[in-house]
Amino acid sequence: PVRVLSGIQASGALHLGNYLGALKRFAAVQDQKPFIFVADMHAITVWQDPKVLAAQTREIAAAYLASGLDPAKATIFPQSAVPAHAELAWIFNCVARLGWLDRMTQFKEKSGKHKERSSVGLYTYPVLQAADILLYKATHVPVGEDQKQHLELTRDIAQKFNNDYDAPGFFPLTEPVIEGPATRVMSLRDGSAKMSKSDPSDQSRINLLDDADAIASKIRKSRTDPEPLPETEEGLQGRAEASNLVAIYAALADISKADVIAQFGGQGFGAFKPALAELAVEKMAPITAEMRRLMNDPAEVDRVLKAGAERAREIGDQTVAEVKKLVGFLPL
Ligand code: ATP
Ligand code: MG
Repeated sequence: PVRVLSGIQASGALHLGNYLGALKRFAAVQDQKPFIFVADMHAITVWQDPKVLAAQTREIAAAYLASGLDPAKATIFPQSAVPAHAELAWIFNCVARLGWLDRMTQFKEKSGKHKERSSVGLYTYPVLQAADILLYKATHVPVGEDQKQHLELTRDIAQKFNNDYDAPGFFPLTEPVIEGPATRVMSLRDGSAKMSKSDPSDQSRINLLDDADAIASKIRKSRTDPEPLPETEEGLQGRAEASNLVAIYAALADISKADVIAQFGGQGFGAFKPALAELAVEKMAPITAEMRRLMNDPAEVDRVLKAGAERAREIGDQTVAEVKKLVGFLPL
């Protein structure tokens, strides 16, 4: 059976990369009844002000709804409301090997020069992520390119658990679904860095809550080279910034990069940037407006999260009960 699951960390302003790489694609697969959670437990791997965390958790949920997820189809919930995530994560901490985690590039990036001062949680983050996924025996996880390595770790953990506990096929070998023209949206200031919530420069990203003026100004000021757009898609090679803007246009318009080049090839950024800004505003404004409405109605958002958590707990508790039996914990 196909089970789709994904989540976003409640750790800062959502941006266009999250929208194109994740949110928009969640809504596109909702007929498969996906499990879509807010990763509030992942968020606290770096310090979060408690009041801000609560607001950010609701903000992510509002973004899910505003980008078209229907709570009658998708199960939307905060990770922390389902204790089974933490229970399974502990068992997986005992399955995963230090050597596997030592290879995770996200930890290296996020811990920076201060590895010894990072939280232990930041280090075991991918183990909790494996628990998030395997708790629901998810077979498919739509994510951006940056999550590929974590998904490989999830498969390693599933495989080792199934072997160690003599339970072939108990956990599925989950497939990452990394598709479309915008699986890795880059910073508007630096074509070699991923657009990120945690980038200190607000100019580097288009936030889901940016207004039309901010979107237009960030695109106008985005870094580019001086050449016009190439006449063929291959001409984008080696031009990270140009390639990024073309990918953003393609993803927003639901066309291919080749289609964008067919339309704009040979034109300068003086023409392309305003067209991109107009498209971005047209697509994002309704989502921003709906997000703002929902953020002013926390009761509505909380109702959705509570109902989702109840559904998620049923499945989570069931998996943990099966796992405890396999592991040899007393069934008291
Ligand atoms: P942080 O900087 O806090 O890690 P983030 O911007 O990377 O934040 P996450 O919550 O880690 O956001 O990721 C949520 C989802 O958005 C994941 O599926 C991730 O792959 C996707 N995603 C994040 N950044 C991008 C991006 N620049 N382009 C495409 N997808 C992205
Ligand atoms: Mg990230």
